Amino acid sequence: MNKSKSYDAIIIGAGIIGTATSLGLARKGWRVLNIDSLPASGYGSTSGSCAIIRPYYSTIDGSAIAYESHFYWKDWENFIDAKDERGLIRYNDCGSLVIKTKQNNYLKNILKIMDELNVPYEHYDADQIVARLPIMNKQSYGPVKSADDADFGMDNGKEIVGGVFFSHGGYINDPQLATHNMQIAAEKNGSKFLFNKSVTAIHRQHNQVTGVSLDDGQLLQAEVVLNAAGPHSYKINQLAGVVEGMNIGTRALRHEVAHVPSPTGYDYENEGCIFSDSDVGAYMRPEQGNFFLIGSEDPPCDKRQWVDPDNFDHNFTEQWRTQVMRAGQRISSLAIPSTTKGVVELYDVTDDWIPIYDKSDLPGYYMAIGTSGNQFKNAPIVGEMMADLISASESGQNHDQEPLSFHLKHIDRTVSLGFYSRLREVNQASSFSVLG
Ligand SMILES: Cc1cc2nc3c(=O)[nH]c(=O)nc-3n(C[C@H](O)[C@H](O)[C@H](O)COP(=O)(O)OP(=O)(O)OC[C@H]3O[C@@H](n4cnc5c(N)ncnc54)[C@H](O)[C@@H]3O)c2cc1C
Repeated sequence: MNKSKSYDAIIIGAGIIGTATSLGLARKGWRVLNIDSLPASGYGSTSGSCAIIRPYYSTIDGSAIAYESHFYWKDWENFIDAKDERGLIRYNDCGSLVIKTKQNNYLKNILKIMDELNVPYEHYDADQIVARLPIMNKQSYGPVKSADDADFGMDNGKEIVGGVFFSHGGYINDPQLATHNMQIAAEKNGSKFLFNKSVTAIHRQHNQVTGVSLDDGQLLQAEVVLNAAGPHSYKINQLAGVVEGMNIGTRALRHEVAHVPSPTGYDYENEGCIFSDSDVGAYMRPEQGNFFLIGSEDPPCDKRQWVDPDNFDHNFTEQWRTQVMRAGQRISSLAIPSTTKGVVELYDVTDDWIPIYDKSDLPGYYMAIGTSGNQFKNAPIVGEMMADLISASESGQNHDQEPLSFHLKHIDRTVSLGFYSRLREVNQASSFSVLG
């Protein structure tokens, strides 16, 4: 065996999830190699992330981890504990305002969860929303319609009832840089990164993973291999031959995010906050250069675009304009620019929009996948959880029978990683959307 080509663990993918796990394992003393087809870390779907940090999910475990993540991002410099010549990311913790709608049950279920977790929040009535964000109007437009619907853009004669402001949240200015920061920290602890190489085979011997082959013919050995391949996760699971042993699947969903200038005279970049509005089916956040970044909340009238991650349309479509027009219902002064700007990227979506952070039926093969458009924020914690899960499993713990627990130190709460099991039943408490 060529010793220079043998590692304690190989991670397929150097997105935010694979890189965070590299850091988690390296801090435990593991010799880790991340392999990525792309030229640098965080260049895959992570680069297109809106990088919004917010505590509210539909489940208590999902919310607990998301709330905890706020404190990791706030303490980023200490968490990274390494010098990145490109500098560190900036966490703009401007908070987030969510509109109460019939679709989200006026936030009643979510607020019960927030109360249990002691997450601070404030109720706003419609006038307070306009006072906080003076470019918004109070009309209600729901249910969300397609742009070709004759009633598109017409309000329904009512006003929105109000919203809830969550002070603990905001966004990270550069998701790719966040990944690079983690790469530098992982390298400081001994991790290696190999770019522009694709994993083409996963090897096993006597029912144990033994390593991977690359597209240049190299064979790399490790008794632990992690699938952190983002939207390609199902392809990697097929290579590993583990799909039969899973109750939850993953697939790639195409998404467009529009970047449009803020209306003249309004400083959304400095005065705005995250805005989640299921009454118009869009979410928005401030972007550098005083832009609005507008994503879709996947309203039922939009057909979901499941795609092959190696073959999909990277161009903007009519969906881009639809999202801007939906935001324009709430912000009457928002202009539709003639040139399209923004992001076309993929979510790696599970059957219930909750990730899979788990082992597999193949000893030594693990997965941190199915991040469903909502796990950027959690990556620093996922890295530590996966490192614990892998170490414990490799030391003999049967995680399927005795699920590992993880303590969220900032909010002092323990979660069971069984929540993320590949063997779970579809979680009916999920929103089955990017909201998680
Ligand atoms: C448009 C958009 C908006 C989002 N907004 C938010 C948000 O506001 N807040 C939030 O918390 N989350 C958000 N997310 C979700 C979040 O960004 C993702 O959950 C996260 O970035 C996924 O990271 P990853 O490392 O799993 O995947 P990726 O970043 O895609 O990394 C996977 C890597 O694996 C590599 N790879 C794949 N196959 C192979 C192979 N065979 N060999 C070698 N390498 C391989 C790829 O090149 C890629 O770099 C958003 C996602 C998108 C797409």
